[in-house]
Amino acid sequence: MAGQFPETDLYDFYIRELIRSRPHIRSEEVEELLAQSAMVARGAENVFTMLDDADMTYPEVKDEDGNTVKLTKQRYAKILESTNGEVRKNAHAAFYSSYQNHLNTLSASLASTVNNDIFYTKARGFKSCLHNSLDGDNIPAEVYHSLISTTEKHIEGLHKYVALRKKILKLEKIHSYDMFCPLFPERDYQVNYDQAVEAVIESTTSLGADYTAALKNAFDSRWVDVYETEGKGSGAYNWGNYKVHPFILMNYNGTIDNMFTLAHEMGHAMHSHLSCGKQSYQKAGYSIFVAEVASTLNEGLLLEHLLKKATDDLDKLFILNRQMDNTVGTFFNQVMYANFELTIHETVEKGGALSPDMMTGLWRKLTEKYYGPHLTIDDYSIIKWCRIPHFYMMYYVFQYATSYAASQAIMSKFIAGDTTIVGKYIEMLSAGGSDYPINLLKNCGVDMTKPESVEATVKMFAEQVDEMERLAEGLGK
Ligand SMILES: [Zn+2]
Repeated sequence: MAGQFPETDLYDFYIRELIRSRPHIRSEEVEELLAQSAMVARGAENVFTMLDDADMTYPEVKDEDGNTVKLTKQRYAKILESTNGEVRKNAHAAFYSSYQNHLNTLSASLASTVNNDIFYTKARGFKSCLHNSLDGDNIPAEVYHSLISTTEKHIEGLHKYVALRKKILKLEKIHSYDMFCPLFPERDYQVNYDQAVEAVIESTTSLGADYTAALKNAFDSRWVDVYETEGKGSGAYNWGNYKVHPFILMNYNGTIDNMFTLAHEMGHAMHSHLSCGKQSYQKAGYSIFVAEVASTLNEGLLLEHLLKKATDDLDKLFILNRQMDNTVGTFFNQVMYANFELTIHETVEKGGALSPDMMTGLWRKLTEKYYGPHLTIDDYSIIKWCRIPHFYMMYYVFQYATSYAASQAIMSKFIAGDTTIVGKYIEMLSAGGSDYPINLLKNCGVDMTKPESVEATVKMFAEQVDEMERLAEGLGK
């Protein structure tokens, strides 16, 4: 690649960034002190991690088959998918009783992290923690505020979904621990790897022949390490490389979630592939703000493809349900968390203090606002704030929601038949990190400071709720 890019085009963005950061860089002496403080500052997060990952123990509960099992985080998540309401309820109470026993410690560590954020914000002369956090990607604060206000303005879709869940599950009352079990467990959805590959390739045809050919080549050239093996890391990820193709790690197990994960990771891989092919090494790396657009858009395309191919209504319902629960987790919950994070930071910035009661009260208020009148709130679910590791990374979670919203906004242009969007989208992927994420998205016709960009997601979700209600009624659910 040497000589392919004019030398003046290699470091220009980097140098402009250095100049932009100038107002927040302190004297040599102060910078030295700030650097030395980093180890001390990590204390609260370390304490939280040690308590949450190592020292915390959970009680024994009965699983779906009546066996006594000792709860772990993974087992708790699995039991919440049980079709037996009593099993879910008992596991929920047992799991959270452990956190309740350490609530003062967990509150103190979270409050300490917020104070930490405020210390560095003041030291670097930012207006607020929010401004400090958004400065890295040069994101205007309106993006954050618009995400929250637009979502809350159109929150009835989520309220309606809670009511529909309650109806389909035939529950007298619905609780937070009833939000994860499958609504149509009678549908046994298994998909082997070859079928998943075929579906993922077919679903991207609207991105153009070049994209699909590159994706096919990625599979044929074995960029993916498919199955679980001894010593292999869990989960899935894409590792982009310059000059060498991306590597994708999967632990493929035949579920519908695995197929969507494959679409997701291949979205990242194609982003890396296009960006490394077009940009110099210095500009090929992209920000997480656009990264999750590339991955979730491919999930959206796969959803459309599967819905089109579905042969009966139960199939459609199963696929829709999976997607809607995904939107609740990736979008609505993250916006609620973003509101929580903003409120606790602003409380301390205005001179207030954080306590377990204050944060539990706030979580209750937000749960009522987001999940609406059909959800019965129990005393355990409102202490969830104490166990979210991402709250130890200042203003991080909103990026899941903004990326998701941006990809849905782009998807809605695809669906509406906008003929220019494919070219613009491929250009955005190919642009890598050569510009700020907000500008890259603007070139795709998505202005994240405007409510429209978030409306696409909430409207699509509301339509899916209506569609699910219609199909479920047809099946007598
Ligand atoms: Zn991802």
